[in-house]
Amino acid sequence: MPKVEQPNLFGATVLSPSLPTDYEPVRPAYFQMSRVFLTKGSVATPERRRFVERICRRYPEAPVEEHLDTPHNRIELGERDPLSLHRRGKQTLVFGELKAAVRFSQERGNACPNYWHFSPYGFCPYGCRYCYLAGTPGVRFSPSVKIYVNLPEMLAEIDRIARRQETPTAFYLGKLQDSLALDPLTAYSTVLVPFFAEHPWARLTLLTKSAHVDRLLDLEHRGHTTLSWSVNPPEVSAMFEENVPSVDERLEAMRLVAERGYPVRAIMMPIIPIDGWEEAYTAFTDRLLQTVAIQRLTLGCICIYRSARDLMERKLGMRNVVSEHIDTTSLKAGDGRTRYSRDLRHKVYSLIIESARRLRPDLEIALCLEEQALWESTGLVASIGRCNCRL
Ligand code: SF4
Repeated sequence: MPKVEQPNLFGATVLSPSLPTDYEPVRPAYFQMSRVFLTKGSVATPERRRFVERICRRYPEAPVEEHLDTPHNRIELGERDPLSLHRRGKQTLVFGELKAAVRFSQERGNACPNYWHFSPYGFCPYGCRYCYLAGTPGVRFSPSVKIYVNLPEMLAEIDRIARRQETPTAFYLGKLQDSLALDPLTAYSTVLVPFFAEHPWARLTLLTKSAHVDRLLDLEHRGHTTLSWSVNPPEVSAMFEENVPSVDERLEAMRLVAERGYPVRAIMMPIIPIDGWEEAYTAFTDRLLQTVAIQRLTLGCICIYRSARDLMERKLGMRNVVSEHIDTTSLKAGDGRTRYSRDLRHKVYSLIIESARRLRPDLEIALCLEEQALWESTGLVASIGRCNCRL
């Protein structure tokens, strides 16, 4: 829990969070970890060393290698083939320190407004076959699962940024990682949620596919932490999401935190036009809205860079339903990501919006990483900026 100190010289309350200490790490589901690397900065203070050692003790069978002069993203995993490297990375835990972990996004070429995000973790242990992160520069060389131990320093930075804004400002955790998949190991939620609850301006949004919400249930959140789940119909999840909590598990986790008063959101992305997608997405939208009183639903289709697409095609084969619908003529358009055709995107969004509005006319609906033209054709222009990553 963060310590709350006295007002400083300028009258602002100073929040001084520390790494979690008073807890027992638990092995998270869906993480088959087989080795650990300690990299630069990971054990640089007694507090960090205690934190790291406590987690390592949970995996007595996993060898621990110290590379204390090597940055977290330069660890060689010893595989040349990109797919083998990727698989090896998913079973490797790297502790490190991430400088400049709090960033403002740099989206251009689509209608997304930019937003603050931060990274106490890197990548994730799950195995979505469409994973957009797998091809990003930060992950390609060393696609391991990372825990960054400089969480207190990140929160000090968030405090400084938020106080400069002097208006409620969202900080997003889930752009470059899953935000809760490793919470059983780190208990980071027990620092994050109270920190944001106390903060006058900073607000937290967590994006996850995890069902690990136990540590969150009894925390005082004051509505300053929003939890968002990435979901898809079970048929789509079964085809494209490997080693990931089931849709049922996610819906149950959503229900539990909603019961505790957390604002809950859902993001359906990437929508995948499998055979019978109309029925699958209509039925699932109904089920989602009947299970949890979500505050906002954000929709997005595939939008993928070449390197992530290569890896996806290694997993799914060249002829797969995602690649078959990608419109390669849009390659040079906008932000350089490839997508389905505008017609198909309009069709899938319109169908889901219509299903959602039938049950929840008041529901906030937004698009993710979309072009202005799609916001216009779906009648959502007034909601630009009120999407998953923003307040
Ligand atoms: S949960 Fe997100 S980061 Fe993890 S494998 Fe799936 S798409 Fe990639």
